[in-house]
Amino acid sequence: MDLSTSQRTDMCGTLTAADVGRTVTVCGWVDKRREHGEHLAFIDLRDRTGVVQCVVNISHDLRSEYVASMTGSVRLRPDDTANRDLATGEIEIEVSEIEILAQAEPPPFPLDERTEVDETIRLRHRYVDLRKERMQRNLRTRATVNSALRRGMEEQGFVEIETPMLIASTPEGARDFVVPSRKEPGSFYALPQSPQLFKQLCMIGGIDRYYQIARCLRDEDLRADRQFEFMQLDAEMSFVGQEDVFAVISHAVAEATEAVTGERPTEFPRISWLDAMERYGSDKPDVRFGMELVELTPIFEGTEARVFQAPCVKGIRMEGGVDALSRNQIDALVETCQRWGAKGLAWMKVVAGDDGPSLDAGVAKFLSAEESAQVIAALEAEPGDMVFLVADERPLVRHVLGLLRLELGKPPVNEGGLHFLWVVDFPLFEGLGDGGKPIPAHHPFTMPHADDVHLLDEGGEALLGVRSQAYDLVLNGWELGSGSIRIHRTDVQSRIFELLGIGQEEAQAKFGFLLDALRFGAPPHGGFAFGTDRLTALLVGETNIREVIAFPKTQSGADPLTNAPSPIDAAHLDDLGLRVLPPST
Ligand code: ASP
Repeated sequence: MDLSTSQRTDMCGTLTAADVGRTVTVCGWVDKRREHGEHLAFIDLRDRTGVVQCVVNISHDLRSEYVASMTGSVRLRPDDTANRDLATGEIEIEVSEIEILAQAEPPPFPLDERTEVDETIRLRHRYVDLRKERMQRNLRTRATVNSALRRGMEEQGFVEIETPMLIASTPEGARDFVVPSRKEPGSFYALPQSPQLFKQLCMIGGIDRYYQIARCLRDEDLRADRQFEFMQLDAEMSFVGQEDVFAVISHAVAEATEAVTGERPTEFPRISWLDAMERYGSDKPDVRFGMELVELTPIFEGTEARVFQAPCVKGIRMEGGVDALSRNQIDALVETCQRWGAKGLAWMKVVAGDDGPSLDAGVAKFLSAEESAQVIAALEAEPGDMVFLVADERPLVRHVLGLLRLELGKPPVNEGGLHFLWVVDFPLFEGLGDGGKPIPAHHPFTMPHADDVHLLDEGGEALLGVRSQAYDLVLNGWELGSGSIRIHRTDVQSRIFELLGIGQEEAQAKFGFLLDALRFGAPPHGGFAFGTDRLTALLVGETNIREVIAFPKTQSGADPLTNAPSPIDAAHLDDLGLRVLPPST
């Protein structure tokens, strides 16, 4: 692509031996400066494409990060000084003219990738940090992902529609960010947790296929894979079942992945939520490695061993664990599992015996010969392996072993390839809350599984067995996003609200506009949304989404660059009809 302008003929990082003999002008930042005697200096000039070596033998005052324009002729470097690791390593510019375009204070931190710099300092000077090769690459990859997603959706007939930022609350389960209204003091807009309700209205409005790369805002605790504001590829489509949604989203994701990696993922397998929980102890299984949770409950029915007298016993096998783990490490794992809520972690070594492998050390002495043999067989354990067992209530066993599996086996972010997975048949409710009211696992517009609708009338514990038509897309253990087939009939929607304890009045006040709209002819519809920050991070091999966001907040939600959040003055508060209470102690 030709990036020449009225001020430059070429980009620094693109000059090659083919340009030898040309007179060029390049512009950029002084990356490095090396003196060779009194009047000779080598200056690496950097722009977004890379660096080029400029040989300067005229007097100058260039310092690190000064912005300059250099004109000169391109020549081959003497053979023994060529740098094969650098795209422009064969050539250099013999500079005849320098113009300093801007002076610069010394940078607040070195711009090489080797120096670890405190994140707050990086973010305070993000404009300097963005000059780093890593940030340049990440942000360009992000743009590539976005444009591939747009292309992928548009070629499937999706129409980009922008939905408003100042809205009434959307029920995604997080806290809303709110904006006080000046015209109606005491009233507030919410910032969208997602465009959920609007995209459903678009379906009722006959748009048929909507998409948007939407900014979503949720006031919840931040983590490496979570920011207050984040971007989702948000989509909704009419007259569909969940397989239709999987097909279009898988296509868009494949398009983005191929655009970045050059390889098109073809496998988007399905796994049921229950299977994922039983085999991986997680609803976002990382299937880059095995170490699956194995059901051992039947082996311990009627066991004498007190530790295994529990409603559920499961185990995992760590291949070669005997040599890989020291006693101290094992003790630390036991403590970690206790922190995760387990009463304990039973561990045993698999050793070679005269009659085949047997269990040794740890809790092995409490097991009968029969139990040992069955555990070894079920886990397909070999001498040299370690086995870890947890006995407790089923959800706890799954949770703890799921985490232990990751602790022992999870590969680094950029290893093991990209493994996409659709997790299907999520439960409609994730538990029973106050007064036995069910808590929705997704949002309250999710359609129950057709085969389970009758359970809605039974109420109580039976509700926990109701599956929903909700699904997640998972990549290497990260939840990329979720979606569902929606309820498009007012009678079913009212029934769900009733179950959730949302009275008619409350439902009308909160979602009256959606309920009204449903009465005017809603097509069956469903959709999906997934985080483009997360997808980009995984595609570039970053573990923290802040590395793929130009101006992120810190883990505590602050922006060290602009100082947000910050107080506003009294007059502004008056305008909004607000008073700030002193902090509660
Ligand atoms: N609105 C949902 C979310 O943001 C996604 C969806 O159901 O389409 O998680």
